[in-house]
Amino acid sequence: THFGFRDVPLGDKQTLVNDVFHSVASRYDLMNDLMSGGLHRVWKDIMITALDPPRSDRPFALLDVAGGTGDISFRAAKAAGPGFHATVCDINSDMLAVGRERAAKRHLDTQVAFVEGNAESLGFADRSFDAYTIAFGIRNVPRIDLALREAYRVLRPGSRFLCLEFSTVEMPGLDKLYDLFSFKVIPPLGRMVTGDAESYQYLVESIRKFPKPAAFADMIREAGFARVSWQTLSGGIVALHSGWRL
Ligand code: SAM
Repeated sequence: THFGFRDVPLGDKQTLVNDVFHSVASRYDLMNDLMSGGLHRVWKDIMITALDPPRSDRPFALLDVAGGTGDISFRAAKAAGPGFHATVCDINSDMLAVGRERAAKRHLDTQVAFVEGNAESLGFADRSFDAYTIAFGIRNVPRIDLALREAYRVLRPGSRFLCLEFSTVEMPGLDKLYDLFSFKVIPPLGRMVTGDAESYQYLVESIRKFPKPAAFADMIREAGFARVSWQTLSGGIVALHSGWRL
């Protein structure tokens, strides 16, 4: 590619990713709706249904890694009872700042906390959460194996790991359309709305490089998780992976 995003060294990858999200933070939520035609809301709701947080006052602590502007945590809080608490952890202060504003607007600032941190080395104690979610985040993390090990470490035995991520479209017909959309529509749309086409070019390329569902499931198992499963959504545009720390 003429943008030179392929094959960047790991350390540089995080710098690149940070630049991308600093650049798009203020327009991030709008772009999600535009690029997915609102579908990201449906995918996120499917993740919340799988998470199934308790509707009672039973304490339930969610860690939402790469949680950005808070979508997953807000949706989970809405579905859950008063015992629910979410910690949004993200490496990017601009995304977190947008998230905090949104939390205040929704009167969720006591139930949802925003913390700066890296998925590869979380600043939380072992076995301190009842669930771990990561939505459209793990593909941006340079060392995915480290992030998965950290997820396992901070989860209490008997609790769940859920990962929503772009996957591989393998439906004949849809794959061609999806390619066309990814390379011809997304970067120009990104330029129009955020003034930054390169960031969206990066996003498209990072989706291509992410492992297929079966290979990613193996990585989740290698990190220690049991009963690993996944479902593809919207013809494979997205996959929801699940694993348990037993
Ligand atoms: N989960 C949110 C959602 O679904 O709307 C935000 C997803 S956004 C596409 C990806 C997020 O990953 C960005 O906010 C970015 O800052 C964050 N991120 C990238 N690398 C990270 C890392 N190493 N540790 C934690 N967060 C990271």
